Amino acid sequence: ETAKQEQLSSVTYKEARSSAASRRIEISSRIRQAIASNRFTLFYQPKVSLETNRVCAVEALIRWLGEDGLSPAEFIPIAESQGLIGKITTWVIKEAVEQCKLWESDGIKINIAVNISARDLHDSQLIELFVDTCREHKLDPSSITIEVTESSVMAHPELAIERLQVLRDAGFRISLDDFGTGYSSLSYLKNIPAHELKLDQSFVANICSDSRDERLARGVIDLAHDLKLSIVAEGVETEDVMLMLKEMNCEIVQGYFYSRPLDAASFKTWYKQRHND
Ligand code: C2E
Ligand code: MG
Ligand code: MG
Ligand code: MG
Repeated sequence: ETAKQEQLSSVTYKEARSSAASRRIEISSRIRQAIASNRFTLFYQPKVSLETNRVCAVEALIRWLGEDGLSPAEFIPIAESQGLIGKITTWVIKEAVEQCKLWESDGIKINIAVNISARDLHDSQLIELFVDTCREHKLDPSSITIEVTESSVMAHPELAIERLQVLRDAGFRISLDDFGTGYSSLSYLKNIPAHELKLDQSFVANICSDSRDERLARGVIDLAHDLKLSIVAEGVETEDVMLMLKEMNCEIVQGYFYSRPLDAASFKTWYKQRHND
C-alpha cells in the first residue's frame, strides 16, 4: 500500500517538475518576444523624505503590458534562470536614463532607482552598460541609484563588493534592497559600498502591532545610522506605520500609503499636484 503511494507520489512529483520546466521554457520564449516587441514598460514609485515631506527619488519597477503579462516576481526569476536577465536589465537602464532626461527637461529633477539582479553582478559588461548609457544620454550617474538585494550581494560577496565599488566610484548611488532577508554578517555589511539600506517590507508591515517587529525595525534603523547609511522603509501602507517610522528616525519611506507605482505620465501629474510646481 505504502509502496504504491510512494510510487504514485513520485510520478506526480516528476510530472509536476516537468510541467514547471516546460512552463519556464514557454515563459522564456514569451519574454524574448516581449522584449522584441516592446511590451515591457517601467512604472515609478516615489520615495518620500519624512524630514521634508518631499519626493526625493523614484524606484523604477518593470511591468509586462497586456493581458498575458506576468508580475516581475514571477518572470524575473525565470528570466534569470534562462539567461535573459541581461537583455531585460539593458532595456531597463536605457529606459530609466531616458526618462530621467525627459523629466529633467520638464523641470522635474529626480533620482531614479533601478533594480538589478544577482546575475547582473556576474556580468562583466554591467559596469560599461551603466557608464555608457549615462554617457550616451549625457546624464550624470549621480541621478541613478542601483538597487541590489542583500541576498544577491551575499551570494558572492567579494565579486559583488568589487563591482559595486567600481559603480560607486563612477558616481552611481548604491542601495541595498530587501535588507533583513539576506543574512549578511556585520563584517560584510561594513564593506558593502552602499549609500542606502532598504528595510524589507516584511519587517515594516506589522511594526505597530508586533513588538518584535518594532524592535527589529528600530535596530536596523540605528544600525544604518551607525554605518552612516540612509534608510528607506518599504511597504508603508498606513499613516500609523509612517508615524511610527518617523518616531524611529527613519528618513525615507515608500509604499501604498503615498502612492502605488505609476506609469510615467501619471507620476508626473501626481508629482506636480503634490508639489504644486
Ligand atoms: P522590490 O525591488 O523590493 O520592489 C518592491 C515591491 O513591493 C514592488 O513589487 C512594489 O510594487 C511593491 N510595493 C511597493 N509598495 C508596497 C506596499 O505598500 N505594500 C505592498 N504589499 N507592496 C508594495 P513589484 O513591482 O511587483 O516588484 C517585485 C520585485 O520584482 C521587486 O522587489 C524586484 O525585486 C523585482 N523587480 C521589479 N522590477 C524589476 C526590474 O526592472 N529588474 C529586476 N531585476 N527586478 C525587478
Ligand atoms: Mg527595489
Ligand atoms: Mg525591496
Ligand atoms: Mg523585494
